[in-house]
Parts: sequence; C-alpha cells; structure tokens
Amino acid sequence: MLLYDAHSHQTSVENSVMVPNMERAGIRAVVCITPDEEAGRLSAMREKGLTLVFKGLHPSNLKGGLEIRGEDGIGEIGMDPSYEADMAFQRRIFESQLEIAERRNEPVSIHSRGATSLVLSALSSYRLNGVLLHWFDGTESDFEQAVQHGYYIGAGPPLIYNKRIRKNLKAHQHGLLLLETDAPVFYGPLNVTSSQLLIASVYFAAANSLKLDFNDFADDEARAFLGYIGSKQGQIRQ
Ligand SMILES: [Zn+2]
Repeated sequence: MLLYDAHSHQTSVENSVMVPNMERAGIRAVVCITPDEEAGRLSAMREKGLTLVFKGLHPSNLKGGLEIRGEDGIGEIGMDPSYEADMAFQRRIFESQLEIAERRNEPVSIHSRGATSLVLSALSSYRLNGVLLHWFDGTESDFEQAVQHGYYIGAGPPLIYNKRIRKNLKAHQHGLLLLETDAPVFYGPLNVTSSQLLIASVYFAAANSLKLDFNDFADDEARAFLGYIGSKQGQIRQ
C-alpha cells in the first residue's frame, strides 16, 4: 500500500534520511519548490520515483523569473491578500503560470487562502487537467464550484485535531479529496514540525472520520492522486 502526500515543500532533510524513510513507509509525495531553488537536492528522490517536483512562484514571493522547466508540475502558485496588497499584480503572475501549466498539460498546486473565489474565477479561463486547491479554506459555495469543475480539495494535518476542517472530507465522495502535509510546517496542537512521514496520521484521521476501512480509503486516495497527476503517473514508482 502506498500513501500519497499531495503537497509538501520539504527539501532540507538529507536524502540519506528521507529516501529510506519514504521507501519503508511507502510514501510518495509532490514537493513544491521555487524556480530559483536547487532541484538537485531532490533529484535522488525524483529519480527513485518517490517524488514529483513542482515549481512555481508562491504569492508570498513573486520576485524572480518565471523560468519554469524540466520538472513535473506547476506550484505552489496562487493568490493571497495577506501577502501583497496588489491583487491585480498577483492575478497577472498567477495567470502567467496557469498558462504554462495549460500549455504543458501539467498538474498545478494552488494556494488560495482568503482568495478562493478570485482563484476560482482566474482558473475558469484555462483548460487544466489536474488542479489541487491545497489546504482548502473556501466557503460552501466555493466548495460546490470547485467540485463541479473537478478540482481536487486538499486537507492536511489539522484534520487530526480540528473538527471544522473535516467538512472538506466530503470531497472524498466525489473522488476529489487529496491529503497533504505541507511539510515542513509546525503544527502546534501536535507539537511537531511535519515531514512527509506525517501523511500516515493524516490518512488515519481521515479514514477514521469517514468511518472507512483504512485500506479501502488508501485505495480511493491512490486513484484520486494518480488522477490528479495524470500524464506524470509514470514518474511515480507504484
Ligand atoms: Zn504549501
């Protein structure tokens, strides 16, 4: 059985630690980095089929070039009013990256905190195959709209301790739920800084809350994850 972490950033842990850990635990992950970051640090994991590497300009840091090439997808990209007041500028950068994803038929990983409806409206002009709204925090109507478009809904470690987040689990019945760690993030209630290894606990919390058998749930999640990454499936070792 494999467990999929659909959204993470962890690049600082040594390959000599992460590779055997991920192999032992049966974990595969999408790792999002910024374009000027060294993808070389992830190459061992990528070559072993343990990770997909996405690149993108995060809304907290829109400086730097848009040179995005040679990786598996686009992300983390998006919009967020808490980072930069000029939302028109954010939208321009976001759309330029969506264009790349559309042209290259690559999956995207999207940050939409505080801007879900803006993000949904920007997305509607593009033909994209795999769209993840990571750490989804939109309204009920945003949720309905996202599901109608076949966008995946991301939920992470707060599922373990925050009841409110569990409403996102209803994306499971549409085959559109993806689980994530967003590693490395410090989760106060768990008193832990996440690595991709935390994904097993996120799976457990989700399966438990949905009252599903862990193995059946993991099979459903495998289908959702492979659907999300689409043409990049061959890059992940099954
Ligand atoms: Zn993230």
